[in-house]
Amino acid sequence: MPCFATLAQLVDVLSAKKVNISDISLDFLSTGIQTDTRLLQPGEVFLALRGEKFDGHQFVEMAIKKGAIAAIVDFEYQDTQFPVLQVENTLVAYQQLGRWWCNQFNIPVIGVTGSVGKTTTKELIAAVLGTAGRVHKTHANFNNEIGVPKTLLELRDDHDFAVIEMAMRGKGQIAELTQITRPNVGVITNVGTAHIELLGSEVAIAQAKCELLAEMPPDGVAILNHDNPLLMEMAGKVWQGEVITYGLSGGDIQGELIDHNNIKVGGMALPLPLTGRHNASNFLAALAVAKVFDISWSSLKSGVVVDMPSGRSQKIMLPNDVIILDETYNAAPEAMLAALNLLAETPGTRRIAVLGAMKELGERSHQLHQLVGEMVKSLDLDALLVLVDGEDAETIVTSAAGIPSESFTNHADMVARLKGYIQEGDRLLFKAAHSVGLDRVVSQLQAEF
Ligand code: ATP
Repeated sequence: MPCFATLAQLVDVLSAKKVNISDISLDFLSTGIQTDTRLLQPGEVFLALRGEKFDGHQFVEMAIKKGAIAAIVDFEYQDTQFPVLQVENTLVAYQQLGRWWCNQFNIPVIGVTGSVGKTTTKELIAAVLGTAGRVHKTHANFNNEIGVPKTLLELRDDHDFAVIEMAMRGKGQIAELTQITRPNVGVITNVGTAHIELLGSEVAIAQAKCELLAEMPPDGVAILNHDNPLLMEMAGKVWQGEVITYGLSGGDIQGELIDHNNIKVGGMALPLPLTGRHNASNFLAALAVAKVFDISWSSLKSGVVVDMPSGRSQKIMLPNDVIILDETYNAAPEAMLAALNLLAETPGTRRIAVLGAMKELGERSHQLHQLVGEMVKSLDLDALLVLVDGEDAETIVTSAAGIPSESFTNHADMVARLKGYIQEGDRLLFKAAHSVGLDRVVSQLQAEF
């Protein structure tokens, strides 16, 4: 990791207590902050985080053996032989360092949150900004209180933009991440029912997402999904600064789908980097960010390539013109409905939904699974195959009555059935909560076809 800093600077930023640090060693230059001894490079400073399974403090000696020049810890080390920066809380210290390091660069920071579409929108923004400069972005799912500082600490002086994804599981978390990130531009993709079990209501979710705006510097720009009324209402209550709205039904940047692969926006036809109405909406958010930085959309006419992580908006081509829409990474209710729409709109011989339960929906769970089944029915899909691990998955099947459906209680049976079932030209959507493990079914099919 790049974060170059002398021990003196680190002591200063963290107001740390120096233990076994001489005046000479204060000038030592750290080449990065590392929290994992397996990844530690000589010359880095080791920061000991306390996790659910491990306490990084157990690995301090190992870090020093591997060449760490100092350790940042949150308890008193007696008779230590190595340089220690003692702080009150190492997670807070990590976040302070992330903020401080980001401050060293005078580049625009774009924060992205929302119930669904965060990763996709972050990737689309990065791809669009990539036409104008070098972009640093959140990798994998480093989007929480540890991942955000980690991402910021990886900024380098050749980066022109930083696109930071912010996720939450409860109230106050987006505020915390915004204070660390201090974005110049804040994008909220939408407000839905993901994690409703933890927050209780859609209004509470909207308020939690809008913490991004409440904490953003007043000269920042809010980019908001016009098609999401609850988001627009809540945002209006906490944000008085500049706003750019986008949407397919209205907004400052309004897009109109020309067909499956193209969109018309601002009088210009642009190819969609990813198919589906929901991804068109995410693309409009990226166009809004481009507008903030005066990046011409014309450079996007030849298309942008988006690097989506596996299990999200992935199209897998099998022999005989069979296409799998692999959405197995996770399934929030809005994402489920968006993906079913995408399946219905995808040209092919038969459209088959291969689904499983969604999770963390609390008392709304039954109703939301019912909605999914009803959607399968209203879209008149050709078949529904469900991996059943409880009542919720069964609800999808019963609510889709009239659509040919089959249920399975284990992955192997589902794979065996699909192998004989899939025909030339079929389009199959695989989507469920990650824990259902539909990704295993997809990879077995890929291996055996
Ligand atoms: P997570 O919090 O699970 O990481 P996320 O918010 O990062 O999710 P993405 O990974 O971008 O969301 O997308 C997850 C799925 O949500 C996609 O595969 C797609 O099915 C759906 N999706 C993406 N964007 C939207 C959107 N704007 N509206 C509805 N559904 C969407």
